Amino acid sequence: MPQPGYRTPPTNGLKGMDKDLPILILEPELTEKRDSSARKLLEGGQKTAHTPETVSIDDTKRQIRTVREYARNNLDLFVAKLKTNLKQKYPHVKVKSARDNTEAIEYISGISDGLNFVSINNSGIVAQELRPELTAAGFTVVNSYLNEFDARERSILDYWDLPRLSDRNLVGTFKVSIKTAGLDPARDTKKYLAVLGVNAISAEDGTVFFLEHFSNIHNDLRQAEKVILAVGLDKIVRDRQDATFQTKCMGIFGMESALLGIGPKSGETLSLYELGLPPSDRTRELHVIILDNGRSNLLQGKYEDLFLCIGCRACNQHCPIQHSFTNVDYIWTPRNYLNQFLYGRSHSIDVCLHCEACRLECPLDIDLPHLMWQLKMDYVYKRGPSFYHRILGRPELLARLGTPFAPLANRLMGNGLIRGFMEIITGIDRKSTLPKFHYQTFRKWFRQNA
Ligand code: SF4
Ligand code: SF4
Repeated sequence: MPQPGYRTPPTNGLKGMDKDLPILILEPELTEKRDSSARKLLEGGQKTAHTPETVSIDDTKRQIRTVREYARNNLDLFVAKLKTNLKQKYPHVKVKSARDNTEAIEYISGISDGLNFVSINNSGIVAQELRPELTAAGFTVVNSYLNEFDARERSILDYWDLPRLSDRNLVGTFKVSIKTAGLDPARDTKKYLAVLGVNAISAEDGTVFFLEHFSNIHNDLRQAEKVILAVGLDKIVRDRQDATFQTKCMGIFGMESALLGIGPKSGETLSLYELGLPPSDRTRELHVIILDNGRSNLLQGKYEDLFLCIGCRACNQHCPIQHSFTNVDYIWTPRNYLNQFLYGRSHSIDVCLHCEACRLECPLDIDLPHLMWQLKMDYVYKRGPSFYHRILGRPELLARLGTPFAPLANRLMGNGLIRGFMEIITGIDRKSTLPKFHYQTFRKWFRQNA
C-alpha cells in the first residue's frame, strides 16, 4: 500500500535473505551518536526534520489509519500468509501460535532448556501481558529498556516539562535506519532468553520491525542464547512498506510519551550486566510466537477500534490521571487501562475523568473515553452496579444517613482503622479528605432564617 513520501527501506546489507529472518530496527535519526540521540531530546534539542514536505502530520494520521484498517480487515489472510512464509522461507525459525498467555508461557518454559533469566523490551505484549506470568513461572525477568536509564534521567515528570516537541516535527526524527538482519552469529552469546515484543511484521515476507530508542533490543539480538519474538495479531500488516510505516508512526506519535516514561530503575530491577551471565557455547535459536490473547475477539464487537491501536502511547501524554496509572515496570496508558479491564485483569475503570484528552492525541482517532463508558455500561448491565457505585452514586442517601449523627460520623471518618476498612469496601483512598457532615442542613437553616 503506497504512502506518499515514504519508501520501503532497501534490502541491501541484509545477510542471507533466503535463510536469515530479516530483523530491522528503526530508531531516532542517526546524525548523532546512537546512544545519545534520545538523551539529546531530553536535553532540549530538536532534530532537523528530514520529512518530505508533502507529508503533513494529518496525512500521516490518515495513512496510518488506512494501513491499520487494511490489516484489521484482512487479518485471517495475513496470519495465514505470515505463517506459511516463515515456515517456507526460514525453516530454522520455530513458529508457535498461542491462543493466550498460558500457551505462550508453556512454550517458553518448554524451550528454555534450563535458562532462567529473561530479558524483555518495553512493548506492551511482553511488559504487560507476558511478564507477570513469566515471573509466576519462575523466570527472573529483567526489563532491559528501563535498565538503560539511571535516576538522574528522571527529569521529565509531566508534559509541560517536555522539550520543544509540540509542533510534532518529529516525523524526521524517526528516520528509518536498518540496524541488523537476523541474529548475529554466536560471539558474545550469554546464557539467557530474550523475549521481545515486535512493533510490526510483514505478512508478505516475514520481515520483523522494532522501534528502538537506545540499544537494548540490539544488545539482546546480539547476545541472548535464545531469542523469542512475540508477535501480537495486531502487529501483522500487509507488507514491508506498511510495517515500516507503522513502526515509524509509533516513533513519531510516541516520542513525547517515551520521554515522559523514562524513569530510574526501580529498587528491585536487575540489570543483565550486574548478573554477570556466563557465556554460552550452544547454537543460538530464534523463535516466533504469534499471540492472540483476546485480540481476535475485539474484531467481533464494539471494541474493534482497539485493534487499530499501534501502541504509540500518545494517549498518555495529556491524560490528567496518568500518574495514577504509573507502574515502575512499564509505561501505563489509558489504552492499557481499558484493556486490563476489558480482559478481566483489573476490577475498576473508574479513575478516568472522560476529559477526552486521549482521544484528541490518538493518531488513529480511537475514542477511548467513549469505549470506557461503553465498557462500564456493559459491566453494570451484566453484573449490576457494585457496592462502591451504589454508595458513591447516591450522595443524598449518604448525607441523609450522616447528618443526624454528624459529630460522631465525622469522628469516625477521621479514624485510620475505619478509613482503612472503608478503602477496602468502597475503594475510597484512606488519605483522601472527605467533606464533613453538618447537623444543620441547608433546608433546616433556610426554614429558620428565610
Ligand atoms: S478521557 Fe480518561 S483516560 Fe482519557 S485522558 Fe481523560 S482521564 Fe485520561
Ligand atoms: S490508543 Fe493510545 S497507544 Fe493506541 S494508537 Fe491511540 S494513542 Fe497510540
